[in-house]
Amino acid sequence: MTVSVTFWGVRGSISCCSAEYTEYGGNTSCVQADFDGKTVIFDAGSGLRTLGEHLIKQNKKDVTLLISHTHWDHICGFPFFSPIFEKDACVRIYAPLQPNGQPAKEIFELLMSTPFFPLPLNAIPSVLHFHSFRISEKFNLFDGEISIQTIALNHPNGAAGYRLNHNGKSVCYISDHEQKPTDASDELINFVKGADLMIFDTMYTPQEYPLFTGWGHSSWEQVVRLAKAAGVKRTALFHHAPTHTDAIMHDIEQQVQKEDSGFFAAKENTTIIL
Ligand SMILES: [Zn+2]
Ligand SMILES: [Zn+2]
Repeated sequence: MTVSVTFWGVRGSISCCSAEYTEYGGNTSCVQADFDGKTVIFDAGSGLRTLGEHLIKQNKKDVTLLISHTHWDHICGFPFFSPIFEKDACVRIYAPLQPNGQPAKEIFELLMSTPFFPLPLNAIPSVLHFHSFRISEKFNLFDGEISIQTIALNHPNGAAGYRLNHNGKSVCYISDHEQKPTDASDELINFVKGADLMIFDTMYTPQEYPLFTGWGHSSWEQVVRLAKAAGVKRTALFHHAPTHTDAIMHDIEQQVQKEDSGFFAAKENTTIIL
């Protein structure tokens, strides 16, 4: 059994394209998880464009996307995702209902409408299936081969965290989320308990965090505590701040590894085998 996770976009908020971001990468949130050849994609940030090219080369035209929330940095890659322009492709999009009950399909219709984009969603040639769910609902993919749990995250306008389980292996995707230093949050500890890999929003350093409380993102210090309490095996720092150049990311990675050697900073175009 093989489970692999590939990072196509690791940045938060907005893409960063200059030379200072070449090592860790500048594309926004997009992660591919493969469970024995079955592909699931977390979020549709700008990294989704290059993943789309990769899937087309592999002739993979049945695609499943799990969206955490619909802030721009998590959906901006969707209109540039090559499989949606293939007539024989089928793209399934799972996303939580908005806090007001609005289904995500309506947000994607807005994203792909004038004056934001020239082609409306209903002109897309591939088959698109939208599945809305209430956060905390559970569901299955691939006839039950992958079971999915969801949890409400602490983020403006809400966001869904995911846990995917397959044949005794589990991957958690927790972005975007503010883990408060005082928050014992047993619910989240139980949710990620014993995960083989946890991908977690660690946008801020411990020094930066007090300046941005309430913005809906965590510092790595808070996540180290959570990962230890939950017995998580490996944790990927994720949703790197646009101000964190490669030099700063190196420094952050060294600091966090002194606290917990199971931590690493997610880098674009790298694959982790679980
Ligand atoms: Zn974000
Ligand atoms: Zn967000």
